[in-house]
Amino acid sequence: MHAAMSSDAPRYWVGGGGGDAAPQPGVALEVSPGVHWLRMPMPLALDHINLWLLADGDGWTAIDSGLPTDATRAAWEQVFAGTLQGRPLRRVLCTHMHPDHVGLTHWLCARSGAELWMTQGEYLSARLMSAGLEPTDPDSALAHYRAHGAPDGELDKLSGRGNFYRRMVAQVPLRYRRIVAGEAIRIGDSDWTVIEGAGHSPEHAALWCAQHGLLISGDMLLPKISTNVSVFPIEPGADALGRYLRALCRFEPLPAETRVLPSHGLPFIGVHGRVRQLREHHAERLEAVMQACRAQPRSAYELLPVLFHRVLDAHQLGFALGEAIAHAHRLYAAGLLARDDDAGVHRWRAERLSPDAVRLAAGLDAPT
Ligand SMILES: [Zn+2]
Repeated sequence: MHAAMSSDAPRYWVGGGGGDAAPQPGVALEVSPGVHWLRMPMPLALDHINLWLLADGDGWTAIDSGLPTDATRAAWEQVFAGTLQGRPLRRVLCTHMHPDHVGLTHWLCARSGAELWMTQGEYLSARLMSAGLEPTDPDSALAHYRAHGAPDGELDKLSGRGNFYRRMVAQVPLRYRRIVAGEAIRIGDSDWTVIEGAGHSPEHAALWCAQHGLLISGDMLLPKISTNVSVFPIEPGADALGRYLRALCRFEPLPAETRVLPSHGLPFIGVHGRVRQLREHHAERLEAVMQACRAQPRSAYELLPVLFHRVLDAHQLGFALGEAIAHAHRLYAAGLLARDDDAGVHRWRAERLSPDAVRLAAGLDAPT
């Protein structure tokens, strides 16, 4: 088991694999011919996002834009004055709709005349939420959180998240160029193929370039942290974790030596090992949920201490509860948990433990 874990560990490849290889904000680091790494600050527990700047003929294509903060704008101004060498930014391709990825796109496109390229699912979600249209009405959201066991005192925190997105992303460009799964996008002298993701966001786009042996993985594949996979009130019955785990299969055909450029953390090699680690991680959490629900039926809210061993602030609570529901729904969809409706609260019950079936539900076939 330990040998398998260590061979699965991502291997960092930029700057000799050192931990401080990341470039300073505003300074680009070329990691492969014509492929530059930009790191932008974030005032959050997750304190940075990686963007990628690709030489594109007589101009440039940027992958993602950063959070709309003064610090990110200042770093971009430095990039315009330096790395771009006076050549135009023609295209901003956003992997997905989350504020750290799409947040500064409106400013960046207005500043440079660049076009926005994005999948339809991500673009329309970003348009909807930046327009201040909540994904669902407040009553449905409250009913959703209540049905998953959130007590009245916590409901305010959860519903107080309303318009969080709009506060971060006031605008996105009003036009875009749609990209679709499997499409090969010509950037400079290389083709980058769109690999569709799911479970983290509606229609995530990762980009694979066979010529460079590079994968821009967005948030679907990160070297250290596991990608957030949540069930939200807009789609209360979703098996988001099942979607995420199935989408991971699309990275498995890539060559073992693929160099991965993730949105957070350091560039790494080891796509297959990382996919396996993530499946193992979710299998462990699913097993913990099974154990807890075998002892007594529990709501998703009551599963939070099983899955999270730290104090959660209001913002984290929404994602944590979403993740707890996602794990319960994966087991429910796999037929391993039953659902009791106890005075309007969903409580999950495990009749018997079945570790092999749990591993199957996490996309792992052979028990170890
Ligand atoms: Zn994201």
